[in-house]
Amino acid sequence: MQSRYQDSIRVLIGFETECCTGYIQHVESLRNRFQPDYIVGSIHHVRDIIIDWTPEQYAQASELVGGIDALYCEYFDQQHELITALRPKVIGHFDLIRMHDKDYRQRLEQPKIKERIRRNLELIKELGSILDFNLRAFEKGATEPYVSQSILQMALELGVLCAPGDDSHGVATVGLHLERGIEILQQTGFSTDWPVPSH
Ligand SMILES: [Zn+2]
Repeated sequence: MQSRYQDSIRVLIGFETECCTGYIQHVESLRNRFQPDYIVGSIHHVRDIIIDWTPEQYAQASELVGGIDALYCEYFDQQHELITALRPKVIGHFDLIRMHDKDYRQRLEQPKIKERIRRNLELIKELGSILDFNLRAFEKGATEPYVSQSILQMALELGVLCAPGDDSHGVATVGLHLERGIEILQQTGFSTDWPVPSH
């Protein structure tokens, strides 16, 4: 694709991470082997249990750590570890942990959760990484993208870069909801002059 379309578009190659036991070494070895242009740092598990699949698995993870509040805290602590260790250029669906929680808006305001969110956003800002404004959320029944409005506002205040992403899992959904995402970012006050991600 890179060579076929080199005259019309610059195609970057990357991959998205997981965050399961042993992931840091594994991602580092993949990175050394494939030399991607950049990686997307994402979490889909807490204590190796998937949190963005069924509500039952979400409940199981929550039970294991001592409740939904604790689940959010662990998720954001793991995210901090991932960003520190791997320094991904893009942070994927930052608040995916809210997926099976209908009370997520209130929960994101809880001090122990909010302070972790701020800490992670400050780290993203410090590294100059980019927050993924993940529009696939609309495909999964959410009324707003990942990140949600309160986090988007905090990111804006901290000067974190934010770019829309379709998180497409196939050719058919490339670019889906992108216009809507760009419109929200512009209305919130974000620049849409995005940098090219590299390493
Ligand atoms: Zn993902």
